[in-house]
Amino acid sequence: MGKPTGFIEYARELPLDRPALERIRDWNEFHHHPLEAKLREQAARCMDCGTPFCHIGKILNGMASGCPINNLIPEWNDLVYRGLWEEALERLHRTNNFPEFTGRVCPAPCEGSCNAGLVTAPVTIKEIECAIIDRAWEHGWVQPHPPAVRTDKTVAIVGSGPAGLAAAAQLNRAGHSVTVFERADRLGGLLMYGIPNMKLDKAIVQRRVDLLAAEGVRFVTNTEVGVNYDPRRLRANFDALILCTGATRPRDLPVEGRELRGIHFAMDYLTANTRRLLNGGPNGDFLDAAGKDVVVVGGGDTGTDCCGTALRQGCRSLVQLEILPRPPLERAPDNPWPEWPKIYRLDYGQEEAAAVFGGDPRVYLTTVKKFIGDSAGHVAGVRTVEVTWEKDAQGRYLPREVPGSEKELPAQLVLLAMGFLGPEQGLLDQLGLERDPRTNIRAEHGRFATNLPGVFAAGDCRRGQSLVVWAINEGRGAARECDRYLMGETLLP
Ligand SMILES: Cc1cc2nc3c(=O)[nH]c(=O)nc-3n(C[C@H](O)[C@H](O)[C@H](O)COP(=O)(O)OP(=O)(O)OC[C@H]3O[C@@H](n4cnc5c(N)ncnc54)[C@H](O)[C@@H]3O)c2cc1C
Ligand code: SF4
Repeated sequence: MGKPTGFIEYARELPLDRPALERIRDWNEFHHHPLEAKLREQAARCMDCGTPFCHIGKILNGMASGCPINNLIPEWNDLVYRGLWEEALERLHRTNNFPEFTGRVCPAPCEGSCNAGLVTAPVTIKEIECAIIDRAWEHGWVQPHPPAVRTDKTVAIVGSGPAGLAAAAQLNRAGHSVTVFERADRLGGLLMYGIPNMKLDKAIVQRRVDLLAAEGVRFVTNTEVGVNYDPRRLRANFDALILCTGATRPRDLPVEGRELRGIHFAMDYLTANTRRLLNGGPNGDFLDAAGKDVVVVGGGDTGTDCCGTALRQGCRSLVQLEILPRPPLERAPDNPWPEWPKIYRLDYGQEEAAAVFGGDPRVYLTTVKKFIGDSAGHVAGVRTVEVTWEKDAQGRYLPREVPGSEKELPAQLVLLAMGFLGPEQGLLDQLGLERDPRTNIRAEHGRFATNLPGVFAAGDCRRGQSLVVWAINEGRGAARECDRYLMGETLLP
C-alpha cells in the first residue's frame, strides 16, 4: 500500500472532458488524461483495504458488483503511486487483454464497490487503468509475443467482438492455431461498429487487432458463417469451435405507423455513421440527422450513443424517451454498497444535448403510442403517452398508460434503441445448438461448453446483451475450457 492516508489527503478528481459545445463539432475522443503527478495522487487514494470488493466481480441484486475480470486493482494502484508503470502494466495484462477498451468504455462497476466509496468518493480506477495502458502503448511496451511453441491444434472462432478477440488472444498464447471469422468488413464487433468513435477511437481497436495478427491469429473478414461459409466446414476442419456472435437482434416497437420511412434501429444508424467516417465519405446506408427533429426511443447507453451521434450530425431538436422512472440522485436504501449504484447520471450524450438545447433530452415514464406520417409515407411525428408502473396479479410490474397524457413530438428521424433480444438464430439452428429460454446459446458460465462436443459459446450470444468487460471475462473463460478440452489440462487463467 503506497500511502496509508492518501484517501484522506486527496479528494477524488477527474480531468475535465473537452467542453460539450466544442467536442460535438468533431468525432474525436473527448476524455483528457490527467498529468502524471495527479494520477499518482489519485492512485494513492487506494487504501489497499483488507477485503477489496473492487475486484470481486459478483452479480449482486442483478448487477455486476466489482470488476468482472477481477483486475488486480489495489496492486496496480500501488505501483502507479510509486511510479512503477511497467510493473503496473504487467499486473493489468494478467487479467485484462484489452485495458484500452475497458479503460474507455467500461461503466466501472469496480468503482461502485470501492471501499473508499463507503466513507468518501471512490478511487478513479477506470482512469488509472486507461492511463497505464495508454502510457504503455506510447512507450512501446506493448509488443507482439507470438507463442514460443505451437501445438498441432486448430480453433475456429466466429465473431470478432471483445469475446472473440479475448478468446483468440488466450488460445494463441497457449500455442493453438486460431482463425477468427467475421462477417463485417472490419474486425472488433461492437467495439468497431456500435460504440461510436468519440467514445472509442477506431484506430485503438485496429491497433490491438494488428497486434493479435502479429502474434499469429488469423482473421477472415466478410465471411458470415451459415450464410456464405458452411458451418460444417468449421466442424470438419478445426479441432474446436467457439461462438462469439453477439446478441444482435434488436427489440422492435410494433405500434401504428412503424412501417413509415425514417424509423430505424439504432444499430443501423450507428453502424452506417461509423462506416462513413472510416471510409471517408457517405455510403448507401448512411442516415443523416442534420436539420431534423430526432426522437430516440430508449434511455440506455445505445440511446445515449444515438444522441451523441445525432448532435454531431447537426440535428434540429432531440428528445430521448425512457419508459422507466428517473433514478434517484443518491443510492436508494434497497441498493446499498457494494452493489452497483442505480442512480441518475448525465452521460456524455445527454450532457451535450443539455449544452445545445438547455436540458437533459430524456423524458421519463413515457413511451410511443403511435408514429404519425406525412403524405409521402415518411415519419413526421411521434405521439407519446405517459405511463405508471403497477403490479399485476402475479406481482409483476407492468406499465399502464395515464389517460389524457398523450402528446405529439415532431420527428423526421426516429431511432429505436430499446435493447436486444439475443443472438441471431440461423447459425445456431444449423449447428443444432440448444438455447436457454431467452434464446441465448445454452452453456453454463465457467464451463462455456454447449451441447455439442468441442463447441463453446462466450459473450453476448451466451449471456445476452451485456458489457465489454463481461465479454472479455467470457472469452478468456471459454478459451481456458477449450484448451482443457484440446489438451486434457490447461494453464490458462
Ligand atoms: C451501441 C452500443 C454501445 C455500447 N456501449 C458500451 C459501452 O460503452 N460499454 C460497454 O461495456 N459495453 C457497451 N456495449 C455492449 C458491448 O459492446 C457488448 O456487450 C460487447 O461488444 C459484446 O461482445 P461480443 O464479443 O459478445 O459480441 P459483439 O461485440 O456483438 O461481436 C459479435 C461479432 O460477431 C459477428 N458475427 C455474428 N454472427 C456472425 C456469423 N454468423 N459469422 C461471422 N461473424 C458473425 C458480428 O458481426 C460481430 O462482429 C454497447 C453496445 C451497443 C449496441
Ligand atoms: S475493467 Fe471495468 S470494472 Fe474492471 S477495473 Fe476496469 S473499469 Fe473497473
